[in-house]
Amino acid sequence: MKNEVLVFGHKNPDTDSICSSIIHAMLDKKNGWETKAVRLGKINKETQYVLDYLGIEPPELIEKVEEGQEVILVDHNEFNQSIEGIEQAKIIGVTDHHKIANFETSEPLYYIAKPYGCTATILFEEYKQWGHTIDKKEAVLMASAIISDTLLLKSPTTTEHDKKALEELVKIAEIDVNEYGLEMLKAGTNLDEFSVEELINLDAKKFEKGDISFVIAQVNTISIEDVLKREKEIKEVISKTIKEKGLSLFVFAITDILNSNSEIIALGEKVEVIRAAFGKALENDKAFLEGVVSRKKQLLPDIDKNM
Ligand code: MG
Ligand code: MG
Ligand code: MG
Repeated sequence: MKNEVLVFGHKNPDTDSICSSIIHAMLDKKNGWETKAVRLGKINKETQYVLDYLGIEPPELIEKVEEGQEVILVDHNEFNQSIEGIEQAKIIGVTDHHKIANFETSEPLYYIAKPYGCTATILFEEYKQWGHTIDKKEAVLMASAIISDTLLLKSPTTTEHDKKALEELVKIAEIDVNEYGLEMLKAGTNLDEFSVEELINLDAKKFEKGDISFVIAQVNTISIEDVLKREKEIKEVISKTIKEKGLSLFVFAITDILNSNSEIIALGEKVEVIRAAFGKALENDKAFLEGVVSRKKQLLPDIDKNM
């Protein structure tokens, strides 16, 4: 695999990480270089809905990279969210919409960072810039990623760029954005068959501040109550994870995608951070955060600041 440039998103891949990897490789091909989309984890149900809709196979799963492997990162840059061996890989490009942290390379690279709601929106603009037309399959992939990351443009992370891109993409994709979007998002909310261990790791991201590390995990649902049926077990597994991984805080956000609110469960020695961050005390290790749906914009910055 060493000669092939690998393109991948973060661990616990979401729809943007998968679709943007595929799109990036397609764009590279149009521009005359061979790259290969791969993934760092299991395909979630929402993403599976997109792949099934298009009748395409998921990218190949890889677990680590060898020293010197050429890679392109999409939808992430932090090494602790990336693949095992990333420190020794040769990063030749990054296309991302997150804050830049713990990132360093020994050689120059292509780095495209824009504070948009989705990586696919950046890639949409790249297509335009290179003068490439977008076909139906590409449009479905990009539109799905934007719908996912912005929760149908309702998340505060949404920018005018995302709105414009989605508007154009759904026409090419020939989809009814609300109908397709809601079906796709709902496909990802069927959580019953996951074990609690799987549940808290479905979309978990680890962050570091100095020598402190903490996790913010998130699941989408159409019923917070439904997820809380397993509250006791969820707390037990989170406590176990905190011990095993030496975490200072674990925040599990259960996000109601229909009403745009989140209930969080927070555990760890640094739980007082929650009150400082959101002006709300935890009751029974939980807090209801009205209007909060975005980890990137509404959870992480305030938690990080108060750590
Ligand atoms: Mg992502
Ligand atoms: Mg993203
Ligand atoms: Mg996400």
